[in-house]
Amino acid sequence: MASSARSCAAIKCKIASCATCHCCQTDLCLDHLKEHRDRLNEKLTPLTNQINTVLDRLTHFTPTSLPNFIMLEQWRDAAHQTIDRFCQNIRGELFEYAKTKSQEKLHATRNTLDQLIQMQGATRENIDMLAKDVELIEQNFNNLQEITINLRPLVIDKNAIIQSNSSNKLPQYPGEIRLSAASLEQQNELEALQNGISYQIFVQVTNIF
Ligand SMILES: [Zn+2]
Ligand SMILES: [Zn+2]
Repeated sequence: MASSARSCAAIKCKIASCATCHCCQTDLCLDHLKEHRDRLNEKLTPLTNQINTVLDRLTHFTPTSLPNFIMLEQWRDAAHQTIDRFCQNIRGELFEYAKTKSQEKLHATRNTLDQLIQMQGATRENIDMLAKDVELIEQNFNNLQEITINLRPLVIDKNAIIQSNSSNKLPQYPGEIRLSAASLEQQNELEALQNGISYQIFVQVTNIF
């Protein structure tokens, strides 16, 4: 009668197999089955080490040290400076200039008045003219206090981001924007950014748009 038992698949093993490994469908005797299992278990340790290594790297990873993060911070500083300059200009042109002009006119009018008082020779015409000047200056001052400024809200959206032609291979996560390092071709733009001439963030755009 022919034996239906299959022999162990291990090289040079003549013993009949007693089990089949589910993961690789190999027939093995008891000793080689244990050896086979031990070999599989041994592979777990390097995997654990690999996970620990990546975890450790992630823990000590500081995005703030990346060139693109530094560039983002530079953009933020430059944008703040632009807003500050804009507001200073508005204040200077609308308020400070008008205030200084009114002060100058008032001083000039008072000088004229002082001279007339000293000379004791004011005419009706002089007095009317001075009164008119003071009234005008006062009116300008009142207008200055009631000035209204209508500003459009400052919108910073995805249009503030300039798409990069960078061929850098970056990890892709659906729905997220990946900042990429500026390539050599973008050196001019980068210099412009650093010199404050223009503010550009180079990004590789994923399917979020
Ligand atoms: Zn197996
Ligand atoms: Zn065997």
